[in-house]
Amino acid sequence: MQCKWCKSDRALESLESAYWELPDGTRAVEIKEVPSINCPDCTIIYIEEEQITELENHFMLIDTKKLGSSFTFKELMDQPTLLKKNYFAMND
Ligand SMILES: [Zn+2]
Repeated sequence: MQCKWCKSDRALESLESAYWELPDGTRAVEIKEVPSINCPDCTIIYIEEEQITELENHFMLIDTKKLGSSFTFKELMDQPTLLKKNYFAMND
């Protein structure tokens, strides 16, 4: 993989913990094993934009009150969504 900051080709995919503020701003949670990019050359660890968007979207669709203060990325994405995926499409 290529690091988007220093363009090094030595960047690797890795699973990292991330602290995240809930969309409603009530609290921050720890998400473990988030797919991330780890670059040994500029020592940066970042999450790709697409992944961030997916995560943020998922937070909007689930009942965040049911979440503990710490969970894995997979546990988060396995949370059932409150809205059916075709909810918006049905309003055509
Ligand atoms: Zn880099």
